[in-house]
Amino acid sequence: MSNSYIVVGQGLAGSILAYELLRQGHTVTVIDKDSGAGSSRVAAGIYHPLVFKRTTLTWKYEVLFDFLETYYPELEKELGGKFYHPMPYLRYFASQGERDNWVNFKEQDEYKPFLGDDMDESPVEGVTPTFGVGYVKRSGWVDTNLLLDLFRIYFIERELLIEDNFDYNLIEFREGKVAYKHLLADKIIFAEGYGVTQNPYFNYLPLKATKGQVLTAEVNGLVEDGIINRKVFALPLGSNQFKVGSTYEWQWEHNEPTPELKLDLETKLAGLVDLPFKTLSHEAGVRPSVTDRRPLIGLHPQHPQLGVFNGMGSKGVMMAPYFAKQFSDWLIGLGELDKEADIKRVNYELYFSKLLFQTRKE
Ligand SMILES: Cc1cc2nc3c(=O)[nH]c(=O)nc-3n(C[C@H](O)[C@H](O)[C@H](O)COP(=O)(O)OP(=O)(O)OC[C@H]3O[C@@H](n4cnc5c(N)ncnc54)[C@H](O)[C@@H]3O)c2cc1C
Repeated sequence: MSNSYIVVGQGLAGSILAYELLRQGHTVTVIDKDSGAGSSRVAAGIYHPLVFKRTTLTWKYEVLFDFLETYYPELEKELGGKFYHPMPYLRYFASQGERDNWVNFKEQDEYKPFLGDDMDESPVEGVTPTFGVGYVKRSGWVDTNLLLDLFRIYFIERELLIEDNFDYNLIEFREGKVAYKHLLADKIIFAEGYGVTQNPYFNYLPLKATKGQVLTAEVNGLVEDGIINRKVFALPLGSNQFKVGSTYEWQWEHNEPTPELKLDLETKLAGLVDLPFKTLSHEAGVRPSVTDRRPLIGLHPQHPQLGVFNGMGSKGVMMAPYFAKQFSDWLIGLGELDKEADIKRVNYELYFSKLLFQTRKE
């Protein structure tokens, strides 16, 4: 059955979801304010299966990996561009403890497909392996800027994109459908990233956004076919340019890049590479992270004409394709929504009763 959807937000989440809905034969309109400042525009786009801090595997790594490794190459063919770059990820250990962890885990069955041997010698010129280096076998990066540009062209060519700041006050519920300005749809799905905090229907969701900053630096003589990391990553963009990052800030005054964090990234880059470098640009974005580190997907508890596809945190590249497919299937009655990703896990009633309680006290 074909339905009509409005998707709000053309970041990684909204773009891939809109594309999946179109593939199912639905009518889709995408509304995006084209601020150019979304998280996906700043993201390094790296994917790998580890949480380095704890040397643990990320949630659902197996299914997410299997899915993304076929999804992006197929999408490249459809959109006509090269944005998927599988490449090794070299983890230069910052301490002996990190290396011991690596050695310990790499022999375990579930880690074997992902963790390579640890080495004393650096496979890369210009990086000193103080505590050795290990490499991640299945990893790489997606050029999210190029991907979003190609999606934008795809939507514009099909006359599906409206460049506008979505105004939540103009939503009208009409006999099981939802109207917005001149549009009438079966559902509006919100994928505004951090912008969901301004959405009166979904601002009860537990978004614990984190600001992040990245640099683009020119480094001559550094390897260009692998991502290197020690306290900071350097991702090869080509032509001796590297994306360097990223920071995690849980409290911040504004969404712009700051000189303090620029200096912090430069200091860390100087600790990673023994080569001179020049900073070319500096950007900041806000990740739509969630307290329990799981996506926020589903329909509004009182208005099923409204849905949400958000909460990709720092793993949008891995999560968005798999969950866009799962969500679009579920919307037509196929399969199930992952219980850990479903917004049903958030207690809507409790949020509003607390709000009411607070208002009464004031
Ligand atoms: C510094 C940094 C580094 C990162 N590195 C990585 C990485 O290496 N790997 C990885 O997987 N992830 C990374 N991420 C996280 C990644 O960016 C996110 O997981 C993902 O891009 C989120 O996509 P999104 O579409 O949900 O949100 P966004 O990209 O923020 O997109 C939301 C879109 O909605 C639009 N919008 C919002 N409100 C409205 C409105 N009212 N009306 C119309 N449009 C609206 C915005 O303009 C934007 O285009 C990084 C993030 C940052 C900040």
